[in-house]
Order: sequence, then structure tokens, then C-alpha cells
Amino acid sequence: GTPLVRLSGVRKVFNQLEAIRNISLDIGDGAFVSLLGPSGCGKSTLLMMIAGLVRPTSGEIRVNGEVVTGPRADVGVVFQSPVLLPWRTVLDNVLFPVELLKLSKAKYRERAMELLAMAKLADFAGALPRELSGGMRQRAAICRALIHNPSTLLMDEPFSALDAITRDDMSVELLRIWQANRKTVVFVTHSIREAAFLSDRVLVMGRRPATLVEDITIDLPRP
Ligand code: ADP
Ligand code: ADP
Repeated sequence: GTPLVRLSGVRKVFNQLEAIRNISLDIGDGAFVSLLGPSGCGKSTLLMMIAGLVRPTSGEIRVNGEVVTGPRADVGVVFQSPVLLPWRTVLDNVLFPVELLKLSKAKYRERAMELLAMAKLADFAGALPRELSGGMRQRAAICRALIHNPSTLLMDEPFSALDAITRDDMSVELLRIWQANRKTVVFVTHSIREAAFLSDRVLVMGRRPATLVEDITIDLPRP
């Protein structure tokens, strides 16, 4: 279909260091794309530029046809380590984007509880983040990224803080959510297994200054 995310000649220089060199890329609406590559090659930087949290040095990024100039309501982001507001309950953390976007919290409460149940956190809706394990916090952060139903989900190694079993559970849940909603997902991972299981396209970045070295389409039957 039409590209939902489009990168044109994107380059990023930090001080004197060229992190990303000339990446052009179209990601189709509803695609699940994994981004693989060696540590430090610029995967997070690329994702944060799509998220509007880091500005490219040159080139252009578009989401839903619009040039990205900052964070957007139609994009949800999950960071490698969960960032939750410590004085808010888990439920109110999940509802935080709803508040920022000035939507009705009452309307989204039921959806928040459904997402928390999916993440096996239903019993912790009223708890504070410090009462949760690292893995539970990350699952809450994933719920928060999904609460306002963004068209695009950007995830930076979202499962790296989870134990192996929780990670597999969350992978299956993520796949289920993606199949149900056909969100466009860009998923940064170190794990070839995870990339092959989850995505229908795997992009491999080379060493710094990073360009794309492989663009692989995966066509496997899904569970
Ligand atoms: P990856 O996610 O693939 O591990 P990153 O995107 O985190 O890689 O980093 C790519 C390169 O850019 C690294 O060399 C890193 O040190 C550098 N880098 C990332 N962010 C900054 C920053 N804010 N300032 C300076 N250098 C940075
Ligand atoms: P990890 O952070 O090691 O990945 P998990 O998120 O997988 O841990 O947690 C495993 C399970 O342990 C949770 O689903 C929960 O039932 C229980 N658990 C962990 N921390 C707590 C806590 N602080 N209070 C109550 N139960 C907890």
C-alpha cells in the first residue's frame, strides 16, 4: 500500500561523528519491520528520528505524508527501559497520553484495563511503578504506547528487560495486536529469532556510518 513512513536521504552527524549516512526507505502501511544491526550502528538514532525526538542533520522523514518535526499523536514509542511517572499509579501512567492529547480519560479507562489485562497487570492497575518489577514496568510502558491507538508503533528493544518466558508471551501478544489492528511497527532488536518470528520485513544496518545493507522480506506462515 501507500508508504506510512518515508525516509529520504536521512543523515545524522553527532558533533564530528557521522552516525547515519544517507538512508532512504519506505515502510508500508501495516508493515511489521524489524531493524537489526551491530551495537552502536545507529538503530536507536534512526528510530528516535522517526519518533521526532532527534532531528536529522539532513534529509527528510514523513509519517502519514507529513514531515516529522516533533513527537506526533499518531506515533507511539516504547523505549528500551521503561519511563513511568513514579507518583502516578500504573493505570494513570497508561492514561497519560490520553491526558496529553486532551481526550476523555473516562472513555479510555476500559481500554486501559483491557491492555493491562493483556499484559498480565490487571491486579496492579492501582499500584505505583516502584511496586513493580522491571519486566512489569516495561509491559505497562507498552500498554501506554498503545492506549490512544496510534497508527505507528516504534519500539526500541522493548523486551530486553524481560525474562525469556515473559518475552515470548509479549511477542505473541504484540503479534496478536498487530494482526488485529494492522499497525505499522518498527521494531529494533538484537535478536534474529525475534525479528524472524515477528516481522514481515527485516532491515539490516551496517557498521557506522550506517546505511542499510540488507532488506529482507519474510514470508512465513504465522501462528
Ligand atoms: P544502536 O541503537 O544501534 O546501538 P545508537 O543509535 O544508540 O546505536 O548510536 C549510534 C552512534 O551514535 C553511536 O556511535 C553512539 O555513540 C552515537 N550517538 C548516539 N546518540 C548520541 C548523542 N546524543 N550524542 C553523541 N553521539 C551519539
Ligand atoms: P522480570 O522483571 O524479572 O522480568 P516479571 O515482570 O516477569 O519479572 O515478573 C514475573 C512475575 O513476578 C510477575 O508477573 C508478577 O506476578 C510477579 N512479581 C514481580 N514483581 C512483583 C512485585 N513487586 N509484587 C508482586 N508480584 C511481583
